[in-house]
Amino acid sequence: RTNSVHEATPESMPLSENALTVLRERYLAKDDEGHIIETVDQLWERVACEIATVETLYGATSEEVASVEEQFHQMLASRTFLPNSPTLMNAGRPGAHKQYSACFVIPIEDDMQSIGNAVTAALLIHKSGGGTGFSFSNLRPKGDRVRSSGGVASGPVSFMKIIDGATEQVRQGGTRRGANMGILHVQHPDILDFVSCKTLDGQIRNFNISVAVTDEFMNAVKEDKPYSLINPRTKHPVKEVFARLVFDRIVEEAWKTGDPGLFFIDRANRACPIPAMGEIVSTNPCGEVPLHGFDACTLGSIDLAKHVRIQPGHGQYEIDWESLDQTIRLAVRFLDNVIDANDHPLPQINAMTRQTRRIGLGIMGYARLLMALGLPYGSEEAIRLTERIAHQMKAMAWRASEQLAKTRGVYPAWKGSKHEQEGRQVRHSYVTTVAPTGSLSMIADTSAGCEPEFALVWFKHVLEGRKLPYLCDLFETTARREGWWHDDLIDRIVANHGSCQGLKEVPAHWQQIFTVAHDLTPEQHVRVQAAWQRFSDTAVSKTINLPSTATVEDVRHAYVLAWELDCSGITVYRDGSRTSQVLNLGKAD
Ligand code: ADP
Repeated sequence: RTNSVHEATPESMPLSENALTVLRERYLAKDDEGHIIETVDQLWERVACEIATVETLYGATSEEVASVEEQFHQMLASRTFLPNSPTLMNAGRPGAHKQYSACFVIPIEDDMQSIGNAVTAALLIHKSGGGTGFSFSNLRPKGDRVRSSGGVASGPVSFMKIIDGATEQVRQGGTRRGANMGILHVQHPDILDFVSCKTLDGQIRNFNISVAVTDEFMNAVKEDKPYSLINPRTKHPVKEVFARLVFDRIVEEAWKTGDPGLFFIDRANRACPIPAMGEIVSTNPCGEVPLHGFDACTLGSIDLAKHVRIQPGHGQYEIDWESLDQTIRLAVRFLDNVIDANDHPLPQINAMTRQTRRIGLGIMGYARLLMALGLPYGSEEAIRLTERIAHQMKAMAWRASEQLAKTRGVYPAWKGSKHEQEGRQVRHSYVTTVAPTGSLSMIADTSAGCEPEFALVWFKHVLEGRKLPYLCDLFETTARREGWWHDDLIDRIVANHGSCQGLKEVPAHWQQIFTVAHDLTPEQHVRVQAAWQRFSDTAVSKTINLPSTATVEDVRHAYVLAWELDCSGITVYRDGSRTSQVLNLGKAD
C-alpha cells in the first residue's frame, strides 16, 4: 500500500472540463461579437509576452527578453504559478485596460467630494477587474451636525449603499460583478448599525464587511470591560459601552450570515514595514491584503500540489524544494514586472504602487499537497509541517526580492522603512500573502488557497447561474487503485454531506487523509490559518467553513482564537446561512 494519491506527473496534467469552461467564459480574448479568438496556449503567450517586455526597462536585450518570456510562458502553461485574474484577462489583450491588479484600497475622508471620488474610483477599478476596500471610519456618525447644510449626517452605512449601488451596475468585461470590502472601526458610534447592515438592510449586496478591532477592544471583551465610542469628527468620546455587548452582536450576525468578519488592525500596523506611509485602515475585498489608501497589490499564486516528487526508493511523495524555489524566484520577478506594466485608472495609484512595490505571492493546492503527502488536513502533524513549509517559503520569497534589488534597486519607499533599519536591501515592501484563488484554483485544477477540499462531491455556483460539478479526483483514483471503489460510493458520500467519514467501505486510514471542510473543528481551521500566517507578510484569506449545525458559541470561540493565535483577521461561513452560496454540497443537477 502507498500513502500517495497523485497519479500522473502533476505538470503534465491536462486541463479539466471545468478549467476549460472557466477559461472560455471569462479569460480567453473575444471579438466584438463575443467569439473566442485565442487558444489557451495563446492566452499564456500573450500574458508572458506583455509581462516579459518590462525587462527592457532594466536594460535587457531582445534575446534576454525572449528568454524570460519563454520561462514565464512555461510557468503559466504548466499552471505551477498563475497571476490574479485581472492579469490573465487584460495583459497584452488589444483594447484592454493595462490594469493587472486585484486589490485596491481607496481612502474616504469626511466630505462629499471625497465620497464622490471614491465612487468614481470604485467604478473604474471594478471595470478593469479589481476589487476595492474602504474604511468608513472617518465619516461622522448618523445624526451628527453638518455645518454647511445645517442638516444632520446620514452616517457610514448610507454611504456604503451609494458605492454598493454603483457596483451593482458595472460588470467586469461582461462577466463578474465587482467586489468591495467595507470596514468600520469598532470605536465608531454607528458600529451596531454597521454590524447588522447586511441583514437589516438588504440593500447592501456587493460588500464583504469587517469590523476593525483593536487589541484594547479584544482585551476588554476578555475582561468584560467597557470601552469608548468616539466621534471621528470631534475626536471626543460619545458613549461607553461594554465590549461584550458589541462582540456578541458581531458574533451573532456572523453566525447568521457570515458577516461581519474581524480585521485585527493593530496587528496589521505592527507588521507594516513602511509606517511612514501612514496608518493602514482597510483591506481589499477578501481580506488578504491590508493596504494604505491608493495602494494596490497584484497577486499571484503557486500551486503547491504541482511541486511534489516521488522520494527515491520509497514510492512516497515529498515536496520538491528545488522546483518550488525556482517557481518562487520566477514568480517574484513576474510580479515585479507587473508593477511597471500596470497603468492604473488613477494617477495616485500609479504613484503609490511604484513607491511601495508591493506584491502578493500566495499559494494554492495546499489541501492537495497534504493528500499527496498522506497527512490529514488540520492534524497536528500537518500543522507542524505547514509551519515549516510556510517559514521556508517565506525565506525563499524574500531571497528572491533581495536578488532583484541587487540589479533593480530597492523599492523607493525603502528609505525610512523597517527594512532599511534592519539593513535588508529588498525590492518590495511586502512579498507574500495567501489569496482565496477562487477562479485561479479552478483554472489550475487544484484546491483553493490554503483551504481544505470543500467536500468530496460538491458544486460551485459561478458564471451567473452556472453550476460546475466537482468530484475529488484524487479520491476516486485512490479508491479505484486500492480496490474499494464502487458505483454507489458517490451517492453514499452525497448522503453523508460530501464526506467519507464513517463510511464502512472506506478504510479508516483513507477516511483521515480525505478529510474535508465540514469534518474539521473550527479550531482546526483557525490553527491552519495561523500556520499560514507565518508565510504571509500581509494577511491570509481563509473561510472558517462551519456545518449548518454550528452554534454561536463556535463562532465566538473561532473569533477569539484567531486573535489569540495572531491571525490578521477572520471570516466564518456556516453552511446554508445564505439563500444562495458559492460552494454547495451535493451534485450539480
Ligand atoms: P482570482 O482567483 O480570480 O485571481 P481570488 O479569489 O484569489 O481571485 O481573489 C483575490 C482578490 O481579487 C480578492 O481579494 C479581491 O480583491 C479580488 N476579487 C475577487 N473577486 C472579485 C470580483 N468579483 N470583483 C472584483 N475583485 C475581485
